[in-house]
Amino acid sequence: MQPVPKGRHLKANIVLWWLRRDLRLHDNLALQAALATGAKVLPVFVLDPSLLCSKRMGLPRLKFMLAGLAALGESLRELGGELLIQQGEPRTVLSQVVRSVGAAAVYANCDYTPFAVQRDRSVANALEVPLHLFDDAMVHPPGQTLKADGSPFVVYSPYKRQWLVLPKPEVVSYSIREGQLHHLPGIERQPMPSLADLGFGSTINVPVAGEAEAARRLTRFTGGAVFDYSVQRDILAVDPFADGGEGAASGLSPYFRFGMLSPRQAYHAAQSARSAAASASQRESVDAWISELAWRDFYMHILFHFPRVHNSSFRPEYEQVAFREAPEELKAWQEGRTGYPVVDAAMRQLNSIGWMHNRARMIVASFLTKDLLIYWREGEAFFMKQLIDGDPAANNGGWQWSAGTGTDAQPYFRIFNPVSQSKKFDPQGSYIRRWLPELQAVPDAFIHEPWTMESPPKDYPPRIVDHPMARERALAAVRAVKTGSPVDRARPSRSS
Ligand code: FAD
Repeated sequence: MQPVPKGRHLKANIVLWWLRRDLRLHDNLALQAALATGAKVLPVFVLDPSLLCSKRMGLPRLKFMLAGLAALGESLRELGGELLIQQGEPRTVLSQVVRSVGAAAVYANCDYTPFAVQRDRSVANALEVPLHLFDDAMVHPPGQTLKADGSPFVVYSPYKRQWLVLPKPEVVSYSIREGQLHHLPGIERQPMPSLADLGFGSTINVPVAGEAEAARRLTRFTGGAVFDYSVQRDILAVDPFADGGEGAASGLSPYFRFGMLSPRQAYHAAQSARSAAASASQRESVDAWISELAWRDFYMHILFHFPRVHNSSFRPEYEQVAFREAPEELKAWQEGRTGYPVVDAAMRQLNSIGWMHNRARMIVASFLTKDLLIYWREGEAFFMKQLIDGDPAANNGGWQWSAGTGTDAQPYFRIFNPVSQSKKFDPQGSYIRRWLPELQAVPDAFIHEPWTMESPPKDYPPRIVDHPMARERALAAVRAVKTGSPVDRARPSRSS
């Protein structure tokens, strides 16, 4: 883009809609407000090198995001507009675009992570025009759900009680009329970068991105599988991303992650399903799913009010646990070579499709932090890189819950047994066989613990750890902190 001299007179008939994690045209509060100004709206997305080059950004999520941007760009073109995609530091890029087109204001939806809050502050300071931010990404954004004394809840159940009774925001509707979108005369556009341009070489198949697909999934889920959600949600083999697959869970997390779907649309679709439920158990299932939307808000609320959780345990005493430095075991976990079939199947699912079943996430997180006694941030960082739905708040919350270091954490003495979890949630071993072809021929009786076979498959690794021993080791490590015994702090220190 050509730099424009500072101080140029601002024309008031153009405003920018700065998209971040709200890649949709419907029920979008920032877009609605931008359109309501009567000015022409120019949609802008900034590819920020500090995110693109971060160790936490991986190919699956980037590919899904670029596909979502392409889908949105297509929809905007059909409406006579265009999505301006620019690479660079947001404060610099946006200041330049504002000056180039003479925009009167910038409209965007709030993001509540520590990184985003800081970035938005810096952009607001740099712009010559106002930055208007809207609470769009959560059903109830941080700050709306507080204790009577104004302090933030740190336990989910009371948080949810209040969340449930608060009046819910409606889905907003507006139309985009011909000529309301600005399409960029005089701006030097950067072409949409390819994955190769961004330094990502290998390929992975990701689900279809975009708001049309999100809406299709929401309609299908709330018209069927949601009624059986409480019963089916823990069955590992049901995969919402398999070809033509209808999951026991919605498979909506990547769409929420990039705002291809609004939480209001999801909440109201669930309420409509609840009204249509044919039995108390169907209603309970819908309620269980609505509770997941509250969990999503809760973890964002925690990250917003306690930004320190991004880098350290919510319960500070857990920073003293003598976690192990075990790079080979960490690598075996990452690659799905621990010798525990359910753990390995889950990690191979993650590495193959960039998504993992919720129950499987809990199993592998427990295995890493308790059986291997490796610091939870190692797992959190790996998930963040691999997941298409990698979300700083939900991922952090999920890891800290599993590790026992978080708000509503598992008590430290509750340690998942990977074999009994496997028997309970993958009884026929279908999940294991799907992701571990080398165990295809193992009979059902041995599929959860192939090491008990007389001759286990040669191409499948032996267990890297013995669960009963590991359980005792993990308990001892936490007890040592609880009783104030000195520990050897082998835990790697990470600053990013
Ligand atoms: P559904 O069961 O259909 O739930 C609907 C929506 O509710 C999800 O799409 C998600 O937005 C939200 N949700 C469900 N469960 C949770 C939860 N426990 N916490 C917060 N929100 C929830 N979820 C992410 O979106 N991004 C992550 O990076 C992430 N990392 C996780 C890491 C660990 C260790 C664990 C235990 C959980 C993690 N989760 C994460 C939560 C959960 O596993 C996924 O949201 C869920 O599996 C997504 O599948 P779904 O869309 O079919 O969920």
